[in-house]
Amino acid sequence: MQHNRDSSGSQARKGNRPPGLRGKDIGMYYRNLARQRKKDRGEDADPKEPQIRLGCNVSAPSGVLERVKEFMAHYSQAPAREDNYVDAQFQKQFRHLLSVNFEEFVLETKERNADLDCVNPKLDERLQLELEQRQLEENGRKRLAARKKLPTMKYADEIVQAVCENQVILIVGSTGCGKTTQVPQILLDDAISRGCASSCRIVCTQPRRISAITIAEWVSYERCESLGNSVGYQIRLESRKPRERASITYCTTGVLLQQLQSDPLMHNLSVLILDEIHERSVETDLLMGLLKVILPHRPDLKVILMSATVREQDFCDYFNHCPMFRIEGVMFPVQMLYLEDVLSKTNYDFQKTRDRRTKRDLPERRMKHEAMIEPYLRRIRNSYDSRVLEKLRLPESEGCEDIDFIADLVYYICENEPEGAILVFLPGYDKISQLFNILDKPKTPKGQRWRDHMAVFPLHSLMQSGEQQAVFRRPPTGKRKVIISTIIAETSVTIDDVVYVINSGRTKATNYDIETNIQSLDEVWVTKANTQQRKGRAGRVRPGICYNLFTRAREDRMADIPTPEILRSKLESIILSLKLLHIDDPYRFLQTLINAPNPEAIKIGVELLKRIEALDQTGTLTPLGMHLAKLPIDPQMGKMILMSALFCCLDPISSAAAALSFKSPFYSPLGKESQVDEIKRRMARNMRSDHLLVHNTINAYRDSRYSHTERDFCYKNFLSSVTLQQLERMKNQFSELLYNYKFLASSNCKDTASNKNSEKIPLLRAIIGAGLYPNMAHLRKSRQIKNRVRAIHTMATDDGRRVNFHPSSVNSGESGFDSAYFVYFQRQKSTDLYLLDSTMVFPMALIIFGDGVEAGVTQNTPYLCVAKTYYFKCNQETADVVLELRSNLEKLLLKKALYPAPIEENGYEKQLIKAIELLLSLDERLGEDYISSDEIDDI
Ligand code: ADP
Ligand code: MG
Repeated sequence: MQHNRDSSGSQARKGNRPPGLRGKDIGMYYRNLARQRKKDRGEDADPKEPQIRLGCNVSAPSGVLERVKEFMAHYSQAPAREDNYVDAQFQKQFRHLLSVNFEEFVLETKERNADLDCVNPKLDERLQLELEQRQLEENGRKRLAARKKLPTMKYADEIVQAVCENQVILIVGSTGCGKTTQVPQILLDDAISRGCASSCRIVCTQPRRISAITIAEWVSYERCESLGNSVGYQIRLESRKPRERASITYCTTGVLLQQLQSDPLMHNLSVLILDEIHERSVETDLLMGLLKVILPHRPDLKVILMSATVREQDFCDYFNHCPMFRIEGVMFPVQMLYLEDVLSKTNYDFQKTRDRRTKRDLPERRMKHEAMIEPYLRRIRNSYDSRVLEKLRLPESEGCEDIDFIADLVYYICENEPEGAILVFLPGYDKISQLFNILDKPKTPKGQRWRDHMAVFPLHSLMQSGEQQAVFRRPPTGKRKVIISTIIAETSVTIDDVVYVINSGRTKATNYDIETNIQSLDEVWVTKANTQQRKGRAGRVRPGICYNLFTRAREDRMADIPTPEILRSKLESIILSLKLLHIDDPYRFLQTLINAPNPEAIKIGVELLKRIEALDQTGTLTPLGMHLAKLPIDPQMGKMILMSALFCCLDPISSAAAALSFKSPFYSPLGKESQVDEIKRRMARNMRSDHLLVHNTINAYRDSRYSHTERDFCYKNFLSSVTLQQLERMKNQFSELLYNYKFLASSNCKDTASNKNSEKIPLLRAIIGAGLYPNMAHLRKSRQIKNRVRAIHTMATDDGRRVNFHPSSVNSGESGFDSAYFVYFQRQKSTDLYLLDSTMVFPMALIIFGDGVEAGVTQNTPYLCVAKTYYFKCNQETADVVLELRSNLEKLLLKKALYPAPIEENGYEKQLIKAIELLLSLDERLGEDYISSDEIDDI
């Protein structure tokens, strides 16, 4: 081993190291060598001068500088009148945000709503009659009778009385007992029958869009109405609002949070129901924190917290020991089977998966698995067949790595168990569609035999509204219903006829590591609490079975309950949106939450917001920050699309922003990674950008749709058309918002005027850079190893950490880059630290759009530096021009933020844009000069 490493090392390096060095000595040799080199270069001459490593030269030809100066001179001739013309509306709103603190804000709205009176005796009378009438009709009677079978309805009187006597109550009940569908109706019908419904308006929050829709639909059915009368829903970009008064609105928690910006005391509602608070989403945690401030100001507002049975005491304590109701559902016993039991039944053979597996991360995983499973196998060896024990040794036997195994289990149930629907829990959309495809287009004889005896339904957040109700209906006779779902069917949606649950034990969760400042969305093991909820889903109509695809040993290692999401998230978006609620001090407010995030995480968020100029140095919101806060995406992506509107390259940049906020349209079937990589590289057309790749892909997809070949196109290129369509929807949403905020002249993201520069690749890079900044990386060296196609990179992010391109990035293993600088959005830590996505940017883009840009002189060489991180050689003349350009750009951005409007084609502002475009376009030609010739002087 030692010998090998030595020889390959010396081959790869220019300066041959003396033979025979071992261990520490090698390090010492290179350290001394590096010191010697520095001495030779004279860097140690003045010990007081900080060590600066100068990068490439960014000096521009003086002819170009002259033209840039001319453009700027033109720009500065803009009449002062125009500068002072500020959007009165925005100005007012912005000043108000800064000058009024939360308490004052709340008092203001209180005054405004002091005489809000909506009592309407006529309406009350009519509604009363209607209700009585409905209960006489056959449908009405039948549906009411069905409702009355739900456990929650048995507590109706007690709930009404408790709400009457308390401001806050907590209802805890096993899932499916009727909380979500019945509690709002109980309260509304009570108000109607008491003749005071006109002052009743109920809002019930839901964690997810589809639960808001399906539940609203179902409740209006129960009330023998169509949607939009007494019941409606409101989710982002889509709503069927009910009538203003005497109504129930199911809305997502995010929508309600947004409404607080204009109506913080929720004057327009009388009852707020916070549902599924046990999930501990960021939104419900924030809302509960806000409620503690709001409630004293709204003594007449009633709040009902609803939770499944998970740590309910925490909520009760948080709300000063509010009364708690427990609703016991009728639950049939459910048999729990674990992987060892499942394998004893189905005898599935994992050989095929093993053959297909890629070897990327195997050894470490295998060791961890071994440490867990071996002691367990010794304990159970007398109770299980040795073939089963052998299979348990394979890491790929647990979870949902082998989708064929799950399909096989579905067939097993079809064959061996009495009728009853099967509910399969998988982590996310990709796995769901894989299983769906296997069941829908079976390749095995067994699969073909069962194909027509099943009605299969995927259930996930990407499903279009309107498709969902079928999941709830009884399947046709002779068919068994199979529902393949994400965590959504765990508590927020109940499907009655489920008897068999297949629990893969996996789910997707965000994670945030403060130390490395890395947030990621990972597939992880669920907690014991999740498994208990999932088990419960099998016992609604009769005794059921829960098949867990993990061993009891695995379950022992699972956490008891999920960590609240706010402790696993980056906080910049949250901090920014709190500013819109006039909550200025994030430290103080977030400290009051049921679980307070680490102050260090808050600090990281605040610092980032300062660097992207959403907050000023004192932490106060800037006009730009206010726009970013209003956009429903990460502030960095928000800045990216705002800039793309000003620089007329909306379509490509909004593609990048959409994919970063959602996900890549490519999927990666096991064992086909290299094929997908090749396709991506082809589509990236050497643009050196995972972000522009997305846009190329969207463009190609549009072409394929035009020629009606999109199915084929997606299939061949491993693309998900569902994802692509969602990306298009998001792009349209962005352009609509930017149009509403007046940054665009059209709400169409393909509009010609908004896309004048969409073909200028250096500009696109720069705008992506402007958005993703300060997430930068510097490629110090890329080495092509003999006989290898791929290059090896030496790269670090601006915090000095070593990184590499993720194998799925189009930049991975490439060589011959025209620039050594990259921006990225996400890093991921597995065996190494990876940039999941990256775009090559030229130094000039960092210099124009970065922060902390300063000129200086070191080693008798003038330079420009970005954030004291990257130093570029740069002559005085260029430095002067660039700094002036930056101060002009800053003014322009401020003006645009205060007075949003597109940049006029022939106006003064366009001159500044032209100056920037001109400087950026230099990069295309300079290319070669930018390659860093730095040596590696450390190991
Ligand atoms: P909880 O909120 O306590 O978990 P729900 O109020 O969501 O319970 O569900 C109560 C009942 O309503 C369930 O038995 C379920 O069958 C029924 N239900 C809810 N939504 C639908 C729907 N869209 N179609 C058919 N039945 C539904
Ligand atoms: Mg519910």
